[in-house]
Amino acid sequence: MNPEALTNVRNIGIMAHIDAGKTTVTERVLFYSGKIYKMGEVHQGTAVMDFDPEEQARGITISSAATSFPWKDHRINLIDTPGHVDFTAEVERAVRVLDGAVAVFCGVGGVEAQSETVWYQADRYKVPRLAFINKLDRVGADFGRVVTEIRERLNGNPVPVVLPLGLEAELRGVIDVITGVGYVYVDDQGVRFEETPLTEEQHFEVELEREHLIERVAEFDDDLMHAFLEHHTVTPEMIRRAVRKGTIAGRIQPVLCGSALKNRGIQLLLDAVVDYLPSPLDIGVYHAHSPDDEDKAIELHPDSEEPFAGLAFKITSDKHGDLTWVRVYSGKLKAGSRVFNVNRNKKENVSRLWRMNAEERIREDVAYAGDIVAAVGPKVTVTGDTLCDARRPVLLERMHFPKTVISMAIEPHSTAEKDRLAEVLRILAREDPTFEYRSDPETGQTIVAGMGELHLEVLKHRMLREYNVDARVGRPRVAYRETIKTTIETEARFVRQTGGRGQFAVVKIRVEPFKSEDEDVTVTFVNALKGERIDSRYVPSIEEGVRECAQSGVVSGFPLIDVRVTLLDGKDHPVDSSEVAFEAAGAIALRQAVEAAGVVLLEPVMKVEIITPNNYFGEVTGDLMGRRGAVTHSDLRGAMRVIDGQVPLAEMFGYSTVLRGLTQGRAAYTMEPDVYSPVSESIAAKISGGLW
Ligand code: GDP
Repeated sequence: MNPEALTNVRNIGIMAHIDAGKTTVTERVLFYSGKIYKMGEVHQGTAVMDFDPEEQARGITISSAATSFPWKDHRINLIDTPGHVDFTAEVERAVRVLDGAVAVFCGVGGVEAQSETVWYQADRYKVPRLAFINKLDRVGADFGRVVTEIRERLNGNPVPVVLPLGLEAELRGVIDVITGVGYVYVDDQGVRFEETPLTEEQHFEVELEREHLIERVAEFDDDLMHAFLEHHTVTPEMIRRAVRKGTIAGRIQPVLCGSALKNRGIQLLLDAVVDYLPSPLDIGVYHAHSPDDEDKAIELHPDSEEPFAGLAFKITSDKHGDLTWVRVYSGKLKAGSRVFNVNRNKKENVSRLWRMNAEERIREDVAYAGDIVAAVGPKVTVTGDTLCDARRPVLLERMHFPKTVISMAIEPHSTAEKDRLAEVLRILAREDPTFEYRSDPETGQTIVAGMGELHLEVLKHRMLREYNVDARVGRPRVAYRETIKTTIETEARFVRQTGGRGQFAVVKIRVEPFKSEDEDVTVTFVNALKGERIDSRYVPSIEEGVRECAQSGVVSGFPLIDVRVTLLDGKDHPVDSSEVAFEAAGAIALRQAVEAAGVVLLEPVMKVEIITPNNYFGEVTGDLMGRRGAVTHSDLRGAMRVIDGQVPLAEMFGYSTVLRGLTQGRAAYTMEPDVYSPVSESIAAKISGGLW
């Protein structure tokens, strides 16, 4: 594609609550674009986007592959976003590189807990979006109610541009509000559709909706406003232009509808993607900053003549090797070139570029600003790194990933598999920034950590399926943390005299409770040495000692967080001092200080949302209280009750089974890490009994 055609590119994602029909919509979209010719159904495990066997088995879309397809002279790059809240990080990284999104809602279930999560994520990154109300063929579907829920529950500004023609079993087609034309489908596959005359009642309804639409979007386009006020003819082009402007500005969300399963309404959805969602040019300038100075802003333009800059937003590995998915923000990325990874301070080779069409790969020589491609070659790049032209180093805004809250021990079935397991853990951690592994210095065990039981379970299955490593895992454990109670100053000496050259390091530090503004920083280290008290080359060693000690925990064995360590003073010796000695002194100083300050054990508390039939409200909340939980909000929605609350993760193991039992399987819940909170002394004592 040549760079002039950037106006014809759409980078979009489909976001939805699990089960709303995202996979089916995706698959239909690919079908209509003419790229695939055979329709697969999700429940048979053959949908095109879900090519990860783990996803097919679970019917949920976990890894965000990106796929491209043409629609009416445009190229749509579809970035797959997962629906399950255990995988919010996956959504986060996908949302980050999108220019626009389609939010799919179930016409029966409406706005559900996870729809809110993804909607707010899209709000945070200011992603313009369309809403597609799906499953209108199902009994109980109600277009109007879902539109109201988008307005009231999501604080959105939905404007219907397509209405259903019929409903439930009678859903025959859709009506384009802007042109007032109705379409009915004349074959089962929904490929052929034709215009249909509307009844008087339908006609009246559409006219009313159109009036409404014009009133609400006129402010976005002067021509439309003028025509509207002066009672001149309003053309469909004027309305579309206004809808486009309002959508891109994030002021409105056009609403479309249909049934993916019955192939209703998908073509108009694709038209709307092209008509209303932004191209990279509409997004315009992207704000980055200098790697050396966060306050020094650098503007990246979607211009292929600028130096290259892009974001590695996902790493996937398959049998052909690692693929680094890059969104190009400026300049061009060429196959056979070298790029600079700012975060790792390393040059990387980009040997080949691929564009993905679900199952088939197309080789590209170059990717221009605004585009998304998969690069082969990078070795050290991880998700979230900035790649750029070494002559203009820039750093793109870092992605926000929740911290891991759950961990378990893992070991290979046989010692022969030990190296293989280590290699696979490395690959998985590179792909997924919310997955970590480390070895426990005391037990020698390997510990893996993630965002929830399901997250770790899915990874374990992937190890077996994709990498043939059958690992044994221990019971999942809560990832506790410790922090300090007060501010303390202390001096630590590491002095050894053993005949020849000795060891000499003296370090004085202050520790104090401190929460960094940057959520990813748990230990803040400040060098407040005055004058040349010690050789400056020892300072990094002291910091290293402090950080390592904090990581492995001081009193409880859980990492120390929310502290500031200030280096106040020290002494060195011209012969006996060394980096090793200062590292040891740093660790000793921290240990001494933390022991003197006293620690508080912190536990992860989850934000939980439960949707249950209202008659189980009492049982469900009673049970939550029993789990040391608190209900923060509850809302009645028809016959369903939506309960928001906070519950310590330690109390949530196996919760799905309990909830099913309490509500005869009629309730659903989602949760994600919220905060770390102090554990009461009595609970802390219990935890110590069980864990340490
Ligand atoms: P996802 O979890 O959001 O990806 O949802 P899927 O696409 O996997 O769909 C969930 C279930 O709903 C599957 O059994 C689909 O066949 C079904 N489904 C999807 N779209 C529709 C629709 O428009 N109408 C009906 N009746 N069922 C649908």
